[in-house]
Amino acid sequence: MVRPTSLLRRRIIGSTASVTSSSSHYHHHLRQHRRSNVTAAAADLSFPSYLLAAPTTDITRFPSSGLRVASETMPGSNTATVGVWIDAGSRYETPHNNGAAHFLEHMAFKGTSRRTQYQLEIEIENMGGHLNAYTSREQTVYFAKVFQRDVPRAMDILADILLNSRLDPVAISRERDVILREMKEVNRHEEELVLDHLHATAFQGYGLGRTILGPEMNIRGLTKEDLRTYVDTHYLAPSMVVAGAGAVDHAELCDLADKYFGGLRTELDEDMKGSDAVCNDVGVFVGSDVR
Ligand SMILES: [Zn+2]
Repeated sequence: MVRPTSLLRRRIIGSTASVTSSSSHYHHHLRQHRRSNVTAAAADLSFPSYLLAAPTTDITRFPSSGLRVASETMPGSNTATVGVWIDAGSRYETPHNNGAAHFLEHMAFKGTSRRTQYQLEIEIENMGGHLNAYTSREQTVYFAKVFQRDVPRAMDILADILLNSRLDPVAISRERDVILREMKEVNRHEEELVLDHLHATAFQGYGLGRTILGPEMNIRGLTKEDLRTYVDTHYLAPSMVVAGAGAVDHAELCDLADKYFGGLRTELDEDMKGSDAVCNDVGVFVGSDVR
């Protein structure tokens, strides 16, 4: 197993990996590709064929909800990856709820109002699918790799674990120990710790300076209510991108995205603005060092 990093805290269930212990990390390289439509003029510049053959990215933004859908269809592919990228990483947390995004990610796999944890795992296994999530400083991401025919079901599952997580208080209590163990594990790795210290000193007092797991006090103290509030305040339609690649049809993905996430709030309730659950600071670089 590869070396963990502090960039991401990730978890997996699915047929290609048995249910992981909650402390598992995987090194993960976030690769971002920017592509635009290849025009005849660009083709003249003799780009390599793998670039010219790359699919274009279709992007749709629903004017009413602000929800965005992005997809790249690969002809001939039988499998698809679909997921939801949410602006809900640790930089949007406050001292009070720092660690909530990561805690929620743990709870997402513990059952919903429609599926028990066991049913969720069986459903993914029987599809031959793969369900995965990670929390970073800037994003919370849930995605599924499935066969083409199962894309609608995968979207149903993603919406279910994001929006209907059971957040059972007993399971929350149990998970505290798991996350505390995870924190110890993270802190044992200097290459993990150094990035946490770097952010803490470079962005002192700002959201970006906080850790993904949050302080021990929060891991021990976050409540079901805190987690529910976090979903209500951060899982807003304009904060989300539904993305798909492979055997996806953009129009179908748009329909599914709108069906499951189009009805989400488009902005915070008035009484939540300025509350201690939301951090909207810009993250000013302070510059300092740790000795
Ligand atoms: Zn974790």
